Amino acid sequence: MNKKGRLIVCSGPSGVGKGTIVRRYVEEHPGVELSVSATTRGPRPGEEEGVHYYFISREQFEEKIAGDGMLEYASFAGNYYGTPRDKVEQALSRGRDVILEIEVQGAMKVKARCPEALLVFIMPPSFEVLRRRLSGRGTEDAATVARRLSAAAGEMEKARGYDYIVVNDDLEEALADFGAVITAAKCSIHDMKYLIDEVQKDAQTCNDANS
Ligand code: 5GP
Repeated sequence: MNKKGRLIVCSGPSGVGKGTIVRRYVEEHPGVELSVSATTRGPRPGEEEGVHYYFISREQFEEKIAGDGMLEYASFAGNYYGTPRDKVEQALSRGRDVILEIEVQGAMKVKARCPEALLVFIMPPSFEVLRRRLSGRGTEDAATVARRLSAAAGEMEKARGYDYIVVNDDLEEALADFGAVITAAKCSIHDMKYLIDEVQKDAQTCNDANS
């Protein structure tokens, strides 16, 4: 069996809880990796280099873009964010599934470049719930919260271009839905065609030997 891993893209507005869902899913599924993005924004308290992000300068980021080192990248809230291409491609070719937790512009670029990617959008149950969660997080100042909330409406409009929507009202339910969507994709004809081909080939060999 020589099966490539599955590329999964997860997006959602700031404060919707996508980071928690994705991290929990990865913890519970050892065959799945979370891609570590590069960004030009500074680290938040508790964020570690190479774990949450690679924190790099604008100059370094632009060099990476020029060398086609980013699978996708986007400008968000005044900073660059991007997915280093080599690590994702290596993991997929080793048969590992890879999750990209990225914003909507980047997700659309991945879809154009890798049409087989699974795109999942995490929605809040309402805008009011999102506003309360983002204000209560306490990791950004009021101006940043306001900017992220105004970006959220536009981002949620882009959810229409995704394959699945998972609503994060109750975290455990959202996690179960996220897992179900990934399982469905991994059982799709696109992902399982290799097995039909393999079994058919073995059947042919066996039947030829018996005839
Ligand atoms: P934050 O600053 O809150 O960590 O991230 C801001 C937004 O950037 C989030 O929506 C996050 O999903 C997105 N993001 C993080 N990494 C990447 C990336 O590599 N590419 C793109 N396009 N977006 C990213």
